[in-house]
Amino acid sequence: MIIATGTASGKSLGYLLPCAEALGEGGTVLYLSPAKALAADQLRSLTALGLPGLRAATYDGDTPQAERAWVRANANYVLTNPDMLHHAVLGRHAAWSGFLRRLRYVVVDEAHRYRGVFGSHVAQILRRLRRVCARYRRDPVFILASATTGTPEESACRLIGAPVAAVTEDASPRPALSFALVEPELTDDTGEHGAPVRRTATAEAAAVLADLVGEGVRTLAFVRSRQASEVVALTAQRILRERDARARSAPPPDDPWLLPEPGAEAAAAEPDPPTEGAAAASPTEGTAPDGTAGSAELRGRLAERVAAYRAGYLATDRRGLEESLRTGDLLGLATTNALELGVDITGLDAVLITGWPGTLASLWQQAGRAGRTGRDALAVFIARDDPLDTYLVHHPEAVFGRPVEATVIDPANPYVLGPHLCAAAAEIPLTEDDLPLFGPGAERVLADLVDRGLLRRRPRGWFWTRRDRPSALADIRGAGGPPVQIVESASGQLLGTVDEAAAHGTVHEGAVYLHQGLTYVVEELDLENGVALVRGEAPDYSTWARDTTEIEVLRTERDEAWGPDAAVHFGEVEVTRQVVSYLKRDIRTGAVLGEQVLDLPERRLNSRAVWWTLSPEAADRLRKADVDVRGAAHAAEHAAIGLLPLFATCDRWDIGGVSTALHADTGCLTVFVYDGHEGGAGFAERGYAAARDWLTATRQAIADCECADGCPSCIQSPKCGSGNDPLSKAGALRLIDTLLAGGV
Ligand SMILES: [Zn+2]
Ligand SMILES: [Zn+2]
Repeated sequence: MIIATGTASGKSLGYLLPCAEALGEGGTVLYLSPAKALAADQLRSLTALGLPGLRAATYDGDTPQAERAWVRANANYVLTNPDMLHHAVLGRHAAWSGFLRRLRYVVVDEAHRYRGVFGSHVAQILRRLRRVCARYRRDPVFILASATTGTPEESACRLIGAPVAAVTEDASPRPALSFALVEPELTDDTGEHGAPVRRTATAEAAAVLADLVGEGVRTLAFVRSRQASEVVALTAQRILRERDARARSAPPPDDPWLLPEPGAEAAAAEPDPPTEGAAAASPTEGTAPDGTAGSAELRGRLAERVAAYRAGYLATDRRGLEESLRTGDLLGLATTNALELGVDITGLDAVLITGWPGTLASLWQQAGRAGRTGRDALAVFIARDDPLDTYLVHHPEAVFGRPVEATVIDPANPYVLGPHLCAAAAEIPLTEDDLPLFGPGAERVLADLVDRGLLRRRPRGWFWTRRDRPSALADIRGAGGPPVQIVESASGQLLGTVDEAAAHGTVHEGAVYLHQGLTYVVEELDLENGVALVRGEAPDYSTWARDTTEIEVLRTERDEAWGPDAAVHFGEVEVTRQVVSYLKRDIRTGAVLGEQVLDLPERRLNSRAVWWTLSPEAADRLRKADVDVRGAAHAAEHAAIGLLPLFATCDRWDIGGVSTALHADTGCLTVFVYDGHEGGAGFAERGYAAARDWLTATRQAIADCECADGCPSCIQSPKCGSGNDPLSKAGALRLIDTLLAGGV
């Protein structure tokens, strides 16, 4: 069963009631969440229910070794995540036999989070779980809880590999929510090729956050990256500190910081009329804000009541921040979507959403954090300089008048399936009877695994006979090899890790790297040893890696002619990528300060792509009409990459593109958009299916931007390997019109 209703609509009760009954009858429950913070929060509220006979425990990376044996032997409600299931539970199912023999329910919370490559891995892990359960003669009921998604039944069925019934009617009371869409203004700064630059979304978010905190409004600011959460928190703190200093240097007759009345700090902190619209629209205006709920000594020091939160923090730090936000000691919290995950924080008044969070489902879930206590609430979407964000602020109907998207997963991706078949064979040798569970491609992938010496075929089935652990073959949250360690060169201290695949782009030499509020600059990236050496330093710029890409068509799987001279295709490609340089951009204004060349090796990727072609004849006609064809294709590529997440629940950074006036494999002007994951992740396939709508929205986003010749909000890309040159905004519009008209 899948319960797919809005935030705070009572989904937990929907699964807790049957689970409580099962526990009373001696059964056990396995609860899966995509993040540790959510499991910890669930444990708290579960314990508070005081269910008789409940022995609940979390079992995750934070659980001390000594406690794990206790959990396995005694707990009847285990809260864990797919990673632990994959690495620590399924491979040792014998140690869990007592628990599994009594397993009645598997709760899959936040099921919409399982999308793309990660979701595809989780789908295979759940199939392995079902198979191991069958070994203990259990066929547990799966209850999935999800934010509203399109086609919940179908998505859930794909995720667990079994039929699912959907519960979608939401009768819970909702507080009134004011929703603002904000496009930051163009500034006097200029970026690449003299393009106008907007005020950055993080600067806008920091300013709005400072204003709201100044009003005592409890605010969560969601941002897209870990780095941005640090920047927003630090900037908001600075704004509040500067206002504090100003207020102190010219003290009014009686020092308002000492006034006991609620909301006093707002009056003092903001002597000038607020410049940002959002603060003036605060839902608590005219009512007594509850910001003074924090302890008395914090009342005057607003800057200290703003913090950043992200998943990389230590468990104790995370719990501490969550607790402070609950008590009101903390008024403003900037966070990546680590906190999006249903952590039960009540009493929030406002939510800032900085940049498109990836899906409409996520947008509504983040907005749903505001107003939980039944009071009216405010949600503010702040557009980043990105074509998708531009499209949304100009087309509110795409936010408010559209059903949320279906989650895309592709469990049949052979790169995903292979490692899980190995793990499954190690858990219990695979037989012919198991194959339907893993999908139609399983037999072919098994043959390949046998060829590669990973599995052995014997009369009774497929066996894992190696000594190493097969679960190490699948990196379910990342892609590729072992992570790169981030080490502070002066102290030798390990600060964290980065996926190998992402290392070239994020911890290259000279990259600015933020960790727990501190800024580091990468001194050296040692790829051979998987180490990035960093030093503590806080430059006033951020860095953006740029890459170049070449693409080769291996096989066309589908195509569709749009007319005599234009067509859209989908198929297998080989992509060769290289991070070649990085840009320095001013952290406050976003202005480009310079570019530095890098010397990093190429990376090869076998993936799937969608591509448009326009015949040489049609391209010539455009040329004769004074269209810069190369610049047009390049601009259309950038904007199309930016808009695909509207249709395919992917991240702009999950996909890449290549455009060329004449491609060797197609013999045509071609614009490619490909999945940035080995084997593909289903994004390009969705793009192919939605090609017309996608290209139409791409055209609108370009046309909507008020810049003259192109800017980061429409056709410039921060990760363009050729320095956003050539680009033609007018040409892109002509080219897309021609494609949609079939080439004529
Ligand atoms: Zn523009
Ligand atoms: Zn480019």
